[in-house]
Amino acid sequence: MPRLINTLLGLAAAATFSSAALAWSAHGHRTITYLALDGLPSDAPAWLREKHFRDMIAEQSNEADRWRGLRSDTLKHENDPDHYLDIDVLPQFGLSLDTVPPLRREYLRAMAIAKHVHPEMVEPYDAAKDGARASEWPGFLPHAIAEQYDKVRSSLLTYRTLEAINEPERAHQLELARLNVIHHMGMLSHFVGDAAQPLHTTKHHHGWVGENPAGYTKDYGFHSYIDTAIVELHEFTYASLRPGMTYSRTVTPANPWTDTLDHIRRSNQKVEPLYIMERDGTLKRDAGKAFISERLIDGAETLAALYKAAWESSGPTEQDILSFLKFNNLRSELLPASAHPAPSGPPPAGAASPIGAPATTPAPAK
Ligand SMILES: [Zn+2]
Repeated sequence: MPRLINTLLGLAAAATFSSAALAWSAHGHRTITYLALDGLPSDAPAWLREKHFRDMIAEQSNEADRWRGLRSDTLKHENDPDHYLDIDVLPQFGLSLDTVPPLRREYLRAMAIAKHVHPEMVEPYDAAKDGARASEWPGFLPHAIAEQYDKVRSSLLTYRTLEAINEPERAHQLELARLNVIHHMGMLSHFVGDAAQPLHTTKHHHGWVGENPAGYTKDYGFHSYIDTAIVELHEFTYASLRPGMTYSRTVTPANPWTDTLDHIRRSNQKVEPLYIMERDGTLKRDAGKAFISERLIDGAETLAALYKAAWESSGPTEQDILSFLKFNNLRSELLPASAHPAPSGPPPAGAASPIGAPATTPAPAK
């Protein structure tokens, strides 16, 4: 069995080097999540401090990378560009980090128009080499963060609304709301963590491209070296990083777009220093350890601030509660009669039929 696992790990390592960037390894994303969760305000639900749920959120922080493991052009097209923003490509579209439109399709429209008006400004894109049409644009990382943040807020609002309604027959809704909070907190963590990895903010994401007077590495494997090998070399753990956390960062709860850009900008400012450290060999030494540690902690600090802001801005108003009740009617006559129907076949004899359907065995399919 160990031999099989070793073989599989070897294959996985080879695949990592040949595939697109995944950003921090699963361990890195989990660690950022655990660190951020420690910053939840004292009035946040107690279950968010329980090991079982913390583990679930931390694990969920890897889901967006697992999507990349499925060979599907549909998912690759939708998901891959959310993991990065090549800031140095934005000027080709007349944009900069500061002027990226905050709404995803407004941003896309601005780039499409710029490309149409000034095609000579934009580097040629070879669609024939990109079956999923995933790499035509410079990436959507800030939009992914902004959208996931609002999904965390929405799931918290639903959870808190159901807590306020406090009806026993809505127990399944409350449980589902809790799972949605876990899901979205994990998803947000992934993209905030990706943004803290400098190579996710530049076209030099898999080694330096183009003019290279400073002699930086052009190695395609540089990305996964930072994601995984260097994290393992310096043995970063939750325990080793936790003392570096301050939980002092704040964001604008109603709309942390500017804070998100600041987060990405800080990371982007570390691109060239990262290449210099690789070239000089200092990445493997104490200076490199401090450098990567700062990046992981910065990711966790921003995530902690976003979690805190999402909690503080998701309390339901009376109108929210009334609106939820109006559109989420649980009248018993609208529900299936049996709590445990057979997986297939007709309802039990004498059972009322759901929504007026005849309680008879359906005719066999033709
Ligand atoms: Zn990613």
